[in-house]
Amino acid sequence: MVDNRLYAEVVVHTPLGRRVVRSAPVPQAEDTDNLPPPASFHYSIPDALRNEILVGHLVWVPFGSRQLQGVVLSLSDTSPVAETRDILALLDPQPVLTPYQIALARWISEYYMAPLHLAIWNMLPPGIGYRESVILTLAESVPDPTRLSPMQQKVVDLLRSRGSLNTRQLSRFLRDEDWRSAVEGLVRQGVLRRSREIQGPRARPRQEEVIRLTAAGRDFSLDDLRGAKQRVLLDYLQGRMQGDWVPVAAVLTETGTTRAQLRGLLERGLIEWRSQEVRAALQVGCEFAPTAPPRFTPEQEMAWREIAGALEAQRHRVFLLHGVTGSGKTEIYLRAVGEVLARGLGAIVLVPEIALTPQTIRRFTARFPGHVATLHSNLTVHERYSQWLRVRSGEASVVVGSRSAVFAPVANLGLIVVDEEHEWSYKQDQTPYYHARDVAIQLGRIANVPVILGSATPDVGSYYRAVQGEYTLLELPQRILGHRRQLEKQADQRHISAPFPERIGGDDEGIRYMELPPVLVVDLRQELRAGNRGIFSRALQKAMSEALSAGEQVILFLNRRGAATFVMCRDCGHVLRCPRCNVSLTYHGEGHNLICHHCNYRLPMPDACPQCMSARIKFFGIGTQKVQEVTEATFPGVRTLRWDRDVTGAAGSHERILEKFINHEADVLIGTQMIAKGLDLPLVTLVGVVSADTALHLPDFRAIERTFQILTQVAGRAGRSVLGGKVIIQTYNPQHYCIQAASRHDYKAFYQQEMACRRELWYPPFSQLVRLVYVHRSARACREEAKRMHRILLHKIKRLGLPETDLVGPAPCFLTRLRGRYRWQIVVCSKDPHALLSGVPLPLGWRVDVDPVSLL
Ligand code: ADP
Ligand code: ZN
Ligand code: ZN
Repeated sequence: MVDNRLYAEVVVHTPLGRRVVRSAPVPQAEDTDNLPPPASFHYSIPDALRNEILVGHLVWVPFGSRQLQGVVLSLSDTSPVAETRDILALLDPQPVLTPYQIALARWISEYYMAPLHLAIWNMLPPGIGYRESVILTLAESVPDPTRLSPMQQKVVDLLRSRGSLNTRQLSRFLRDEDWRSAVEGLVRQGVLRRSREIQGPRARPRQEEVIRLTAAGRDFSLDDLRGAKQRVLLDYLQGRMQGDWVPVAAVLTETGTTRAQLRGLLERGLIEWRSQEVRAALQVGCEFAPTAPPRFTPEQEMAWREIAGALEAQRHRVFLLHGVTGSGKTEIYLRAVGEVLARGLGAIVLVPEIALTPQTIRRFTARFPGHVATLHSNLTVHERYSQWLRVRSGEASVVVGSRSAVFAPVANLGLIVVDEEHEWSYKQDQTPYYHARDVAIQLGRIANVPVILGSATPDVGSYYRAVQGEYTLLELPQRILGHRRQLEKQADQRHISAPFPERIGGDDEGIRYMELPPVLVVDLRQELRAGNRGIFSRALQKAMSEALSAGEQVILFLNRRGAATFVMCRDCGHVLRCPRCNVSLTYHGEGHNLICHHCNYRLPMPDACPQCMSARIKFFGIGTQKVQEVTEATFPGVRTLRWDRDVTGAAGSHERILEKFINHEADVLIGTQMIAKGLDLPLVTLVGVVSADTALHLPDFRAIERTFQILTQVAGRAGRSVLGGKVIIQTYNPQHYCIQAASRHDYKAFYQQEMACRRELWYPPFSQLVRLVYVHRSARACREEAKRMHRILLHKIKRLGLPETDLVGPAPCFLTRLRGRYRWQIVVCSKDPHALLSGVPLPLGWRVDVDPVSLL
């Protein structure tokens, strides 16, 4: 319809279903009545708001019988529907999303097959929500007590003593009691009045009162003040403030004065007084001496020239910066961010959660004091909201954060950096199942800005794109040990006479390089043959003993994921695998069966190894606790520290454990997690990988890639100082290309072998995967629905003649039962999975994961 009204397309924040389609009856494939509900709704804009409403605004709208918040996606002078209702109010004068972000949300919704409203709300900080609140007030008329029930009397008494209450407060006072019908009765009798109100964001930045001297106050002579206390105050303020706002609370405690005395100064016009947002604790900008960028090495210089060119041209381009840990990647990010800031633009720097240590944050805040906001899951809702506000207001133009920081509302975005781009933690684990790296690239495309991906072990998909020329590959092959002067100081402190062993190269500028630590691969089958049944090989035990007696530190690493599930021959190292999928088979106690969690292939547990006939074929796995016990028994008096999920849950944060280790309060760190990046652990001279095999044989097509990444990262922890260091990898598969390549720090060799396997089995990047998981309380219903969906998809593939499209499964998931629910999966493997899945209605209970990082 055409008139002179203005309309807004609004995505409403409904607490309705979280699934692609909500439909009670099981739909048929061609059932068009079951298409997804509209993603957005149209509202008319009342005249009063006509010149106010912008795209990205948070608004208050009627929705059915309720009122909800929504975000304006677009404005138009026509509406596709005849009947529209008015927008009721504008909730926040500044838009909460930029037009770029709205375009990005639409892409996320389509690409990840997720409802648009989830894509939109996922971008906003938690706690931004406005809610409707029902308020109850006593009417003037005095109720007749004889007509009230005991419950009604209770409500009236409560309101009389407390004044008005909203229903949420009321239910807190009258916890388990049935006050609702009592309230209904009171309203009908005219004793109570009911009204509605919008409640603002749950997260509100905390406010504090601050003061500063006015110009008059700065020049005012103390002698002109009567009160002694006022003189003390003014003296204090003149003595310490240069126009900065200081908290009132601090002034009062430090001077021993009262608010009344301070107010005296305000009345004379000597100070200004206001309240402002309390700064979040993590905003460390001002505490650090700014650092200056170092002079680049020739290799950094070469990489930098390419990036600088793209920044100069202000055009979208993706760089893959491939360099071992310590090769100077972060220095390049810092330079790029500096360049962007100098142009008046902003930047987003993504770091995996586990790498987002205070050390990493400090490196950025120290280089760009006052410009950096941090966003990660360790912040409280309030802190996150206030960091988000700093970004939106433009006060902070650099955001350093984990996954969700890709959605920070940076105005004038000029650059996106994704460090450790291969990390799995960039993948969101609920709808929308987005990958922050891929979202970052898409955002770079929309905003037309360069994107830098960095890694020591790039995702093979990313490396493939770089090799194909889609991304620009930049390499930093050398590890920087540091500057000559700094190294001499380090050596001096440790009383080392020859600070530059022959492995350390250098250049004329004083930069010293260091070779990667030598890696020894120990064959555990031979240990067994030699009669050593312990968890430490003779080589590892000897090396530990040497390091510990020299007062150095040791890291022992083991990957616990998937432990005790796969079956391996102790004599020949053979692992039982699915002949169809090549993933390892998983042992299930019930039925004494081996199962493929991709395709449901089953095999009874054999009594002897199919390869060498040995009877010593068993499931496999050890835990950190066992390693700790053995370490303490083998080296009496050794101080050990355990770092895995169980311990970090109970005994505090990653930081506290690491801090203890850094302070040398422990000699051996036993961990299941990659030791955080950006940490210098100069005393660590030995890294032992207790068993490299557990992760290698997880039933997942990316298990080998993951193992290579972990081994390389772990090995990178050793020998990061003049003390040097080495790595020992224990394995039953010494010939495996993953172990071989990791032991030679040879990414390219690994890449080539891995790509050959992926090509043969038609895994990504040669195809695209979508994982469909169905979750249900009943095992039977779960299996039946998975089979039903499989039939529907198979039928559609045939009907449309979709080329190169396979379905793997249906099969029970590796984690067959999670939190009391059964899980079955179907994996779509195709050149174009969207062609198959678009329009296929998925009932409640299905989860859609496009580009899954794992099939476990
Ligand atoms: P990465 O991000 O690849 O792990 P970093 O940028 O953290 O590497 O660099 C490793 C170490 O080398 C850091 O201590 C860093 O300060 C130092 N470094 C990097 N580039 C230079 C340089 N050009 N001159 C001197 N020191 C450097
Ligand atoms: Zn065998
Ligand atoms: Zn299989």
